[in-house]
Amino acid sequence: MTEVALDQLHARAHACAWDRVRRNTAGTVVGLVILGNAAFITWLWVHGGNVTKVHTTGEILTSIARLTGLWSAYLALIQVVLLARLPALERAVGFDRLSRWHRWNGHVCIDLVIAHVVFSVWGYALMDKLPIAKEISTMIWGGVYPGMITATVGTAFLLGVVATSLVIVRRRLSYEWWYVVHLLAYAGIALAWFHQIPTGNELVLDHTAANYWRGLYVATIVVLVLFRVLAPLVSAMRYRLRVAEVTAEAPGVVSLRITGRNLDRLRAHAGQFFVWRFLDGKRWRSAHPFSLSAAPDGRSLRITVKALGDHTARLGELRPGTRVLAEGPFGVFTDRARRREKAVLIAGGIGITPVRALLETMRGDIVVLYRAISEADVIFREELDRIAAARRATVHYVLGDHRGDGADLLSAAHLKELVPDIEDRDVFLCGPPAMTEVLEQNVRGARVPRRHIHTERFALT
Ligand SMILES: Cc1cc2nc3c(=O)[nH]c(=O)nc-3n(C[C@H](O)[C@H](O)[C@H](O)COP(=O)(O)OP(=O)(O)OC[C@H]3O[C@@H](n4cnc5c(N)ncnc54)[C@H](O)[C@@H]3O)c2cc1C
Repeated sequence: MTEVALDQLHARAHACAWDRVRRNTAGTVVGLVILGNAAFITWLWVHGGNVTKVHTTGEILTSIARLTGLWSAYLALIQVVLLARLPALERAVGFDRLSRWHRWNGHVCIDLVIAHVVFSVWGYALMDKLPIAKEISTMIWGGVYPGMITATVGTAFLLGVVATSLVIVRRRLSYEWWYVVHLLAYAGIALAWFHQIPTGNELVLDHTAANYWRGLYVATIVVLVLFRVLAPLVSAMRYRLRVAEVTAEAPGVVSLRITGRNLDRLRAHAGQFFVWRFLDGKRWRSAHPFSLSAAPDGRSLRITVKALGDHTARLGELRPGTRVLAEGPFGVFTDRARRREKAVLIAGGIGITPVRALLETMRGDIVVLYRAISEADVIFREELDRIAAARRATVHYVLGDHRGDGADLLSAAHLKELVPDIEDRDVFLCGPPAMTEVLEQNVRGARVPRRHIHTERFALT
């Protein structure tokens, strides 16, 4: 290895180490803020006499209802913040991990909402000595507890979101419809707000606690407006992105070259993705994530899209000059995640897009494994071979149908055969979700430790 190459590796290792420190620090700060607020909210509940002044079964149940109510409302706010596209959070955790957290946090939040409703009704029914049905109608319509009608509608919205998120239902709904229903969650959270301070035991009598609670909501709204609304608008004005060129790469696969102003200021890296919105009559309503399929050069960005559904099938119709909004760059599937000098980049199908960009920029000993069903599905062959020759990297095209002869392709044994020293490499893995899961297991089976595997799944939900 030449001295220049060694210097480059050291500089990269230094930058990566700093990057990790920054990410870990940001992650720790975010974690501490979240846990600190959770602890304070729990303290509010204890301070409200929910442990010491509880004697009867009804009181125990309503005390649990209060705690589950406070926690569920807090987790609902965290749910919003997790996908508010906060740059520091995104850099510290990664968009895909945030999406996973969002999903799990959502599950816990809904479980707590249900527990809150059940324990409230049950507890108050025992204390008021009323049958459950009568207690429910008294709570909602009786006028004793303010904000209960809106809270009930809000809960119904949240349950509607859960129903549409269940895998079986999701498969029958288009993503766009599922997304619209998902927006109801925001409405649900807003509606639930109206009963919290007027009926919350811990908040109604304590001004400081009530102000703190308001502060949590205001902070969440500010984060949401800043990063989901204003940041994309500012970026649209600053970069003025437009489609410059549409190129067919293969049947059903097109590349879009997008130009704009000051693109070097985007600070995008090979391996990252943006959420793209194309502003023509048919497409402006929906935004979709696509990775950069070439390393950004400060003058233009390229994405490459495979037709898999309504939106992607029609991107080839875009006209040059169409204005584009792009949120991002997002993702930690970049060279900065690498811990070792040697790496294997594994692409499944259209997962080649960020891998193609990474190959262009990664230094060191690189092997690419490109898994496709047949030669007709391979894209960028000429580009990959040219870049690999220039970088002295190796590209293996691994072709075959997994439902037939290709079942064992890229199994753990096959991976070891193709890359005998795979255990000593970092592995970057990208593709559609099902394929990525199988390949990840195989890579683990080839004895690559988890911390050396970097995955980009082409799914956010
Ligand atoms: C981080 C990331 C990077 C990606 N990079 C590429 C790429 O470089 N090239 C490429 O061809 N594909 C890429 N995808 C996949 C691409 O986003 C989906 O194939 C596309 O959004 C499907 O939209 P559709 O309406 O055509 O298909 P549909 O049939 O509506 O959806 C197919 C599946 O795609 C997902 N999906 C649909 N719409 C969206 C959306 N608005 N946001 C998020 N997910 C959605 C859902 O899981 C859905 O089940 C990437 C996905 C992610 C998450």
